[in-house]
Amino acid sequence: MKIIDIAIVGAGPAGLSAAIYAKQAGYNVEVYKASDPSLIATTDRVSNYLGLGDVSGAELYKSLTNHVKLLEIPIISNRVDEIHKTSAGFELLSLKGIVQAKAVVYAAGSKPKKLGIPGEDCETVSYCATCDGGFYEGDPRLLVVGGGDSAAEEALYLAELVGEVKLLVRSELRAKHELAERVSQKENIEVIAGVSTTTVEFDGGAELILNTVRDGVKEPYRASGMFVAIGQIPTTGPVEGLVVFDDAGFVEEVLVEGLFIAGDLNSKNARQAIIAAGDGANAGIKASDYVRELA
Ligand code: NDP
Repeated sequence: MKIIDIAIVGAGPAGLSAAIYAKQAGYNVEVYKASDPSLIATTDRVSNYLGLGDVSGAELYKSLTNHVKLLEIPIISNRVDEIHKTSAGFELLSLKGIVQAKAVVYAAGSKPKKLGIPGEDCETVSYCATCDGGFYEGDPRLLVVGGGDSAAEEALYLAELVGEVKLLVRSELRAKHELAERVSQKENIEVIAGVSTTTVEFDGGAELILNTVRDGVKEPYRASGMFVAIGQIPTTGPVEGLVVFDDAGFVEEVLVEGLFIAGDLNSKNARQAIIAAGDGANAGIKASDYVRELA
């Protein structure tokens, strides 16, 4: 079985940046990605990535992957389900078989969190406006549930497509100043705070009903679709047993040599593309140093 020097799990800004540094250090590198697109690829606008001005998440992602391909680093569709430490390094188990590597950079990012309410698993509830918003173009109204940067971005994106967006916030809008200002200036976004969601009703017709409670009063909202943006769940299954998690499930400490965690999964990181890229660069350098010392 072939042994690669550095296996990189995750093809977002963290994984791709790690790949570039490891490859430029002279190592044999492969990047594995799952079928879900990187979170950055589904982000509407990115206006704080140094040097790029204002670009779409898809444009940024394309330029990151193009850079990696220029260096002839393979990006392989192969979801890694388990990672085991062995005497020779690591074994990565996936549907396509087993890969052996001397070092691993794990940068698998996160998945959207669900509300966990009855009816949520219907086809008109989505977790990505840039992926699914187009289906509703021209419709009268959509709902967005959430109160952070993601929810504000989703609402702004959808407000360009439909008549009205209601942004239903559980406590208060916590989006950063720039996004909150844009939301407040957008005439067709209504922010409603203090809303607890209870159930989704959808019978296959033109509208769903989202049942909510506010100040003890039941309030049903009708809309053609609903987008949930309430945070992310870190994708950490494969590194269980190899790391220590914080209370929210992000990685606080790595317990084995040769494994490097990069990007949004790191407990203390602000979840920003440029921070993930810098963090990935650091992981790529450390993984290269580690493999060099093994020789
Ligand atoms: P956050 O964790 O920042 O916010 C989650 C929001 O969802 C909170 O308002 C929270 O409400 C609400 N929420 C959580 N659970 C529920 C629930 N069950 N029902 C209703 N509401 C709920 O997540 P984001 O995805 O917004 O952001 C994640 C990270 O990504 C942040 O670091 C953010 O800065 C970053 N990001 C940056 C962007 C940018 O810079 N352009 C764009 C998007 C994300 P409550 O306040 O009541 O807990």
